[in-house]
Order: sequence, then structure tokens, then C-alpha cells
Amino acid sequence: MPYEALDFYDVDSLLTDEERMVRDMVRDFVDEEVIPKIEHACRDGVFPDEWRVALGEMGVLGAPLKGYDCPGLSYTAYGVICRELERGDSGLRSFASVQGSLAMYPIWDFGSEEQKQRYLPKMASGEWIGCFGLTEPDYGSNPGDMITKAEDMGDHYLLNGAKMWITNGTIAQLAVVWAKLDGVIRGFIVEKDDPGFSAPEMKGKHSLKASVTSELVFQDCKIPKDRILPGVKGLRGPFSCLNNARYGISWGAVGAAQACFDSAKEYALSRIQFTTQSQLAVL
Ligand SMILES: Cc1cc2nc3c(=O)[nH]c(=O)nc-3n(C[C@H](O)[C@H](O)[C@H](O)COP(=O)(O)OP(=O)(O)OC[C@H]3O[C@@H](n4cnc5c(N)ncnc54)[C@H](O)[C@@H]3O)c2cc1C
Repeated sequence: MPYEALDFYDVDSLLTDEERMVRDMVRDFVDEEVIPKIEHACRDGVFPDEWRVALGEMGVLGAPLKGYDCPGLSYTAYGVICRELERGDSGLRSFASVQGSLAMYPIWDFGSEEQKQRYLPKMASGEWIGCFGLTEPDYGSNPGDMITKAEDMGDHYLLNGAKMWITNGTIAQLAVVWAKLDGVIRGFIVEKDDPGFSAPEMKGKHSLKASVTSELVFQDCKIPKDRILPGVKGLRGPFSCLNNARYGISWGAVGAAQACFDSAKEYALSRIQFTTQSQLAVL
């Protein structure tokens, strides 16, 4: 039987036909491909690669972005996608938030035309994974004091520093990295094979276990001049991305609550059945 979510406020009646279609597609994927596998994925601490492929094929990565082969869906559809994904697992929703809001969005909003054409189609299809490097070992809530810096070496930039707790870092083909250039925070696109860049995985988290979390290390990391995001300076860059992600995360929390409710209901019903059967046995 198709999954029926509890909907006290009849939110679903406010959705357009397209948003309902997207909801059903992602809901079916979660029921068929995520819920049966999530226990193993958490136990093994892996993000199953087939989920990346499926999200790309469903056309839900970077959901509200328009052009460059991006889905161009409504923001409501983006929220519904996050809600449905997080009903399956928070790490799965995290994957979609980071890809869409933290990696694709800054390229889409602040990138050059060439950057948009090079990266966005591959990221929308799921072929390339992006990550977002803001947090540092000593600066999480206070990113304005970040230490990571970029130096203009004439024909290239040199990045030095480290980022921590970076979702998808080890499995990403590119990182949107925030670093200080002459004391001003700027965004840079670092590709996986750039010299001086590494992204070791941080193992052993106690939650979000089906999500890959990494360090990003830059040791005289040399990147071409055309990898700076030309359209933004200062904290507005990373904070715009975080605001965009938070919108989806708030929808995701509803999906997580639904999953908790479903699980409690299933348990309660199984106990009722058990009690009735034992009472019958006594009789
Ligand atoms: C699973 C996971 C995935 C993540 N993914 C990413 C990612 O993809 N990219 C990225 O850049 N970052 C990522 N992060 C980092 C995350 O954004 C930071 O953990 C967060 O910003 C908090 O920083 P912190 O861990 O250094 O904590 P701290 O800043 O050290 O804060 C610790 C505690 O102190 C409190 N606190 C801090 N400053 C103050 C203050 N001035 N006044 C009162 N209380 C204060 C905080 O509220 C918190 O409770 C991830 C983290 C986790 C756990």
C-alpha cells in the first residue's frame, strides 16, 4: 500500500499537481530504495552510491535552480523533496541539501558564465558531487575569523588551511571553499585532483552515519585564476548558501518527525496485537 503521511493541517491540498508528482516520486524512492537499506548503510557508515545516481535521475538535485540543466522546480517542491528524503534518513537529506543549496547554489548565483556551464549540468545529473567548506577546526559558529587563506600568485591562487566536518568531502569532485584573499572572504572552486588538496574521511560519527563527513586540507593548493567566484565578497557568500539550505532543512525536520511517529505507531500496534494474542492464550 502506498505510504500515507499524517497531514493534520492538510498541507498536501496546497500543492500543485507538479509538486504532488514530485512528492510521490521521491516518496516511492524512499520506500523502495532507502528504508530497506538504511540500517546497513548506518551500520557500515556509508552513503550508498546508487542513491546519488537515483537523485540525479529523478531530477531533484538543485531543485529550485533554473537553467544549466537544473530542475527549475518551485521552492515548495524543494521543501517537499527534503521532507520526503529525511523521512528515509537525515544523511540522505543532508546529501541533497549540500549538493543543491551549498555547492550548486553559490555557483549558480555567484559564479561566472563559464563556471555555471562547466559545473551545474554535471551536478544536477548527480555525475559530480559538490561539497561546501566553511567550518574550520577552530572556527565553526564564528566563520568570520577563519584562518584558511588564498594568495594571488599572478597566474594562479595558492590556498593554505583546513576545513572540518565537511559533508560529502571525500566523495566530492569539487569543493566550494571559503577563504580570505587579502583579508576578504571569497569563494573558490577546488577540484578533487588539484595539487595540494586532500579530503580524508572523518570516521566514527555517532549519528548521521549514512553521510560522509570529511576534513579538507589545503597545502600550497594551486588553483587556476578562473576558479574564484566573481559575484560575492564577505560573509554574505557563505551565509546566503546556509540560509538556502536551512529552508530545506526545516522541511526535512517534518519528515524526520513523520518517521518517528510512524515508528512509534508501528511499535504500539505490534504491542496491542501481542497483548491481545497473549490474553487469548490465557483464556
Ligand atoms: C555531521 C556534520 C556535517 C557538517 N557539514 C558541514 C559542511 O558540509 N560544511 C561546513 O562548512 N560545515 C559543516 N559542519 C560544521 C557545522 O556547521 C559546525 O559544526 C557548526 O557551525 C558549529 O561549529 P562547531 O562545531 O565548531 O561548534 P562551536 O562553534 O565550537 O560551538 C560549540 C557550542 O558552543 C555554542 N557557541 C558557540 N559560540 C557561541 C557564542 N558566541 N555564544 C554562545 N554560545 C556559543 C554553540 O551554539 C555550540 O553549542 C558539519 C557538522 C556536522 C556535525
